[in-house]
Amino acid sequence: MGTITCKFGGTSLASATSIRQALDIVEAKEERKYIVPSAPGKRSDEDKKVTDLLLGWFHILQDGFDPEEPISIIRKRFQGLKTDLGSNLDVDAEIDAIIAEAPNYTTSDYLASRGEYLNGRLIADVLGATFIEPADYIHFDINGNLDPKTYETLGAALQGEGRFVIPGFYGANPKGQVQTFGRGGSDVTGSVVARAAGSDLYENWTDVSGFRMTDPRIVPQARRINEITYGELRELAYMGASVLHDEAIFPLRKPGIPINIRNTHSPESDGTMIVADRKAKQPVCGIAARGGFSMINIEKTLMNRELGFALKVLTILRDNGINFEHMPTGIDTMSVILKDEELGDHGEAIVKTLKDVCDTDSITLTTGLALIATVGKGMNHHVGVATNLCKALSDDAQVNIRVIDQGSSETNIIVGVDEVDMKAAVTAIYHAFESFN
Ligand code: ASP
Repeated sequence: MGTITCKFGGTSLASATSIRQALDIVEAKEERKYIVPSAPGKRSDEDKKVTDLLLGWFHILQDGFDPEEPISIIRKRFQGLKTDLGSNLDVDAEIDAIIAEAPNYTTSDYLASRGEYLNGRLIADVLGATFIEPADYIHFDINGNLDPKTYETLGAALQGEGRFVIPGFYGANPKGQVQTFGRGGSDVTGSVVARAAGSDLYENWTDVSGFRMTDPRIVPQARRINEITYGELRELAYMGASVLHDEAIFPLRKPGIPINIRNTHSPESDGTMIVADRKAKQPVCGIAARGGFSMINIEKTLMNRELGFALKVLTILRDNGINFEHMPTGIDTMSVILKDEELGDHGEAIVKTLKDVCDTDSITLTTGLALIATVGKGMNHHVGVATNLCKALSDDAQVNIRVIDQGSSETNIIVGVDEVDMKAAVTAIYHAFESFN
């Protein structure tokens, strides 16, 4: 029998009722053997995520005050879950142990991870499953990256009968101290567990039925994506499609384990399948957009003959600690697209340095740019995709394209438009490709 690793997000485990729902999903299939829980999330808009309460606890402690309030809210929350789920977990003893250990940490990692730890203990108890302590088996190296030896040590611990519960979000550094993956990191734990256990499938249970072709806040009726490759997802996630942590695909690419995004509130929906490869029937599978970009536009006669011109430009950016995103070029022109947060308020100063050092004919800075990525492996060698995209922008949305860029992989066309035009542009592109074959 093959196995499935199931990760449940915080909204799917926010109350005893939702935890019960999640456990029913687990018990509905014997293959669902490895369970990775997040910390309980919000039960309503006014509620707080347990992880945020724990971070509050950490900061109060750092400031030298008594974190009594968050501790008592967390204690009550877990006591309520324990009673409602009929668990035997000694919540008071667990919380007291956390109170004793917390002052030994100077970073927030330990306290931040306790929501996953406590939820994991509770769920393991209710399911009658083996609890696996991530700090003993998930190792980070001195640079904070996952140590590949994790797959062996964790893989060995995940052998045997019955189910296993492995709390999400954390492991340990080389000194054995708790270290987290960063916010939303339980998705990454799920991938690591799926790979270590050699699962055939990684089910990521959340509160939406998978990815939509574009942001439903822009196009409310946007279609669900049934199947998408790791590569396509990476392009969309970079531009802001955020159902899954963007590092979650890395552990699974090599073994090619598929990820299935599912909705705990609507388990009958198949969700979105993220796979290594697929037969693309349509050229475009998704459209993602993000504002907050600027563009440096450079012109210089005979730029094309000047050896090392681009190198000079990029060296200046590097020396100022600035990362660039895209670099479309013409014969005597070149544009460098950067995130506003990278440029900060150094824009004018950088432009001046570039002008002096590169002796440009003209150099300008355009701000308030949004980038829209139209992604799909089916566009490779498919005639007419860029034509349809440009037609949608000019005829339907009447939006001016400031810049356009297509990588050599032919799976992503990026257009830059004014931020104010972003929603109209995305809507028009979506309609152009919704059912384009
Ligand atoms: N509980 C953590 C967070 O809120 C990790 C996770 O849920 O994935 O970021």
